[in-house]
Amino acid sequence: MQDFDPSEYDPETVAVRAGYRRTAENEHSEAIFPTSSFVFSSAAEAAARFGGDIPGNIYSRFTNPTVRAFEERLAAMEGAASCVATASGMSAILATMMGLLRSGDHVVCSRSVFGTTTVLLNNYMARFGVQVSYVPLSDLSAWAEATRPETRLYFCETPSNPLGELVDIAALAAIARERGVLLAVDNCFCTPALQRPLDLGADLVIHSATKFLDGQGRCLGGAVLGDAERVGKEVYGFLRSAGPTLSPFNAWIFLKGLETLHLRMRAHSDNALALARWLRKHPAVQAVHFPGLEEHPQHALAGRQQSGYGGVLSFEVAGGRHAAWSVIDQTRMLSITANLGDAKTTITHPATTTHGRLSPEMREAQGITEGLVRVAVGLESIEDVQRDLARGLDRLK
Ligand SMILES: *Cc1c(COP(=O)(O)O)cnc(C)c1O
Repeated sequence: MQDFDPSEYDPETVAVRAGYRRTAENEHSEAIFPTSSFVFSSAAEAAARFGGDIPGNIYSRFTNPTVRAFEERLAAMEGAASCVATASGMSAILATMMGLLRSGDHVVCSRSVFGTTTVLLNNYMARFGVQVSYVPLSDLSAWAEATRPETRLYFCETPSNPLGELVDIAALAAIARERGVLLAVDNCFCTPALQRPLDLGADLVIHSATKFLDGQGRCLGGAVLGDAERVGKEVYGFLRSAGPTLSPFNAWIFLKGLETLHLRMRAHSDNALALARWLRKHPAVQAVHFPGLEEHPQHALAGRQQSGYGGVLSFEVAGGRHAAWSVIDQTRMLSITANLGDAKTTITHPATTTHGRLSPEMREAQGITEGLVRVAVGLESIEDVQRDLARGLDRLK
């Protein structure tokens, strides 16, 4: 196959074609390589590969051709020099921290990150002497003030889950750079189809491929992207020694997912915007949180920083937990599950599920009220989604 140079093509084309080298069988769809190890032609070749004198596959904990194809395609999509794929989104975050931090280092983290990310920092990284401070995502002066001489990493997700708050990535990257701190952005909600943090000055991008990159809720995976030294050497070095590498089967699912990512993200964003506008007019809904709405305080920033508003929104009903649960329980089609980024629309009550482990004070500070409902809008007809939600909402008035 002719070499595909991503720099010559548009993003939609890169998502379909980058990263794959056809084998001698001339297959059209990407091949899966379910093999744990690779064979050498001689003892001398084995020695040279192990010694790093000649490149090539050794063992699938280190490299695998299907996994590499996924890594190279995603790297091209994010504009990264280097990508390492991992067994899950959490192992991408773990590998980043283990690869780049050491005892005595300090992390400043947005308080609105995926719940398990805070568990990893508070309960596990803390045991190895890594300290963490939490700040409100969009408050740039709070990031600056929380920075200490030993701060090594800023960590954020934008937009946040479930309230759709944003941080100005370019401005935060400037604060980080001035202080010699690395900025990592978990780009799970936008994906490179809608937002490219490295172009805005971030040093590292993290993915849970489990969500939109797969897009159909089939398997777990993750990735870390950035420069060749930090990601290609340090994060990769941890991964090949510790072992939470991506399986070739899952890499193949994600490769196929990437091919439709641009189409899907556009459809998720259009559906979510239509649902947000419909919810805003419903008399039982007190507030809708979605960056695509003109009244969202960071609507203009979302328009500059993202090329779409994404597929996740949340809304508040009066009557607290009882009312929120009754809206959820009266749906017949929406899936009551915490996963997101699926063709199927999912609905969840953050205060008692994804954010249930936070103290009531922490939830309050983050705006996770008892009346809040999150919808990760899928690819069904939006009228059907509205009818399903109307059943419970119409009875609340
Ligand atoms: C789901 C999620 C993760 C964790 O990913 P897993 O694949 O479940 O390990 C990390 N960050 C964000 C924003 C997520 O939504």
